[in-house]
Amino acid sequence: MEKSSKIYIAGHLGLVGSALWKNLQSKGYNNLIGRTIDELNLMDTNAVNAFFEKEKSEYVILAAAKVGGIAANSTYRGQFIYENLMIQNNVIHAAYLNKVKKLLFLGSTCIYPREAPQPMNEECLLTAPLEYTNEPYAIAKIAGVKLCENYNLQYGTNFISVMPTNLYGPNDNFDLEKSHVLPAMLRKIYLGKCLEENNLDAIRNDLNKRPINGVNGDLEMERRRDKEKKGEMESVKVGENEKRILAALNKYGISITSSHSLPFIPPLPHSLSPSHPRKVSVEIWGSGAPMREFLWSEEMADACIYLMEHIDFKDLIRENSSSIREIRNTHINIGSGKEISIRDLAYLIKAKIGFNGILIFNTSKPDGTMRKLTDPSRLHALGWHHKIEIEEGVVVGSAHEKVIDYLVQDFLNQFIRKPLKKNLLFRGYHLCDIKSWN
Ligand code: NDP
Repeated sequence: MEKSSKIYIAGHLGLVGSALWKNLQSKGYNNLIGRTIDELNLMDTNAVNAFFEKEKSEYVILAAAKVGGIAANSTYRGQFIYENLMIQNNVIHAAYLNKVKKLLFLGSTCIYPREAPQPMNEECLLTAPLEYTNEPYAIAKIAGVKLCENYNLQYGTNFISVMPTNLYGPNDNFDLEKSHVLPAMLRKIYLGKCLEENNLDAIRNDLNKRPINGVNGDLEMERRRDKEKKGEMESVKVGENEKRILAALNKYGISITSSHSLPFIPPLPHSLSPSHPRKVSVEIWGSGAPMREFLWSEEMADACIYLMEHIDFKDLIRENSSSIREIRNTHINIGSGKEISIRDLAYLIKAKIGFNGILIFNTSKPDGTMRKLTDPSRLHALGWHHKIEIEEGVVVGSAHEKVIDYLVQDFLNQFIRKPLKKNLLFRGYHLCDIKSWN
């Protein structure tokens, strides 16, 4: 790729897309293009074709998708398969029609079978049944991998696919219904901490940034203002919005434990004395036993750009001893190869956040795949290796202003001993620097 090559990043505002954009910019690429969903809905075939014909991008990275954690995957099964198939069919086909030089398709390690041997290498694709909860999403992603592979074989395109492990980092999705396990856990435990400290202002602030089920922090104030404007008598009871807030938190398993003697809903939360600490519990889905691997999104982006710069489809064709005519499994895993249990992760976040309450592992909720560890040997053989481990990453993720400033900034000062080095954080990650300030 030339520094002036036109590179279209589909989904450039998401967790992955924004990390890719930042990485390309930092390497001096100066002709990047992105479109929001409002500007270009990638499910609209005609609009996608018109966009590709007009823009004539030389390189494409497909990081737009309908994504979510186990709850969203279980609930929106139809949407997950339909929307992802539509997006990727449109983009990959338009890239072929418009002679894009290289395309990178983002898949996910959920394409591998539920009982895949661990760690999972690229060869275990389509060898056994998938995990039920994310089967629709995985089927769509497998179709995307196969579309790229078979367009290469039939049309001579240069489309490569990567399968990143679970990611976390700047611009993550903290919507409790739709987010992945780590951001959801981080936000829930943070809210639990606010609740145990009776810090209603922080909870309101959080809900104003990301309302939960339509409940924001200022509902009561807005309604009062509305009524005042209309000259109506004030009829909203003091504490009504607090009730809504507590009910919304409760729905996501963030609750004041019933055993405590304090009233469930304080009449005026601000006035509750800190000398009356309360016990709060935060529910985590499943047993906590599943093992998960995590990778900092900016590292994953670095791996992707490395592959865009150095690897072509032809480099990924391996000769199969049984029949060299069968070309398959040319995709590349991106992972750290290191794992942590959901339970340990939850307790790690609890310790980082300083939450003193109880974590409840709800075994009536699904666990998902018990183990999902990638084998990144192929990526290593291609010349790229990760640098940041989860322990450092959670600190960086928690402290990074762009990631969760709006969630934990006030609270961070209480558990990070030294002042944050903002410039360092904005410059990106450097392992030695991270170790030195922690
Ligand atoms: P995000 O939800 O953070 O970003 C997805 C982006 O796609 C958003 O900007 C979204 O826009 C956009 N988008 C969704 N639907 C459409 C549409 N119809 N038209 C145009 N844009 C659309 O997801 P991630 O960045 O986490 O994921 C990106 C890719 O990386 C996915 O393919 C995913 O499978 C893969 N991946 C992610 C992992 C993770 O842990 N996050 C792990 C492994 C793989 P808007 O926000 O406006 O809806």
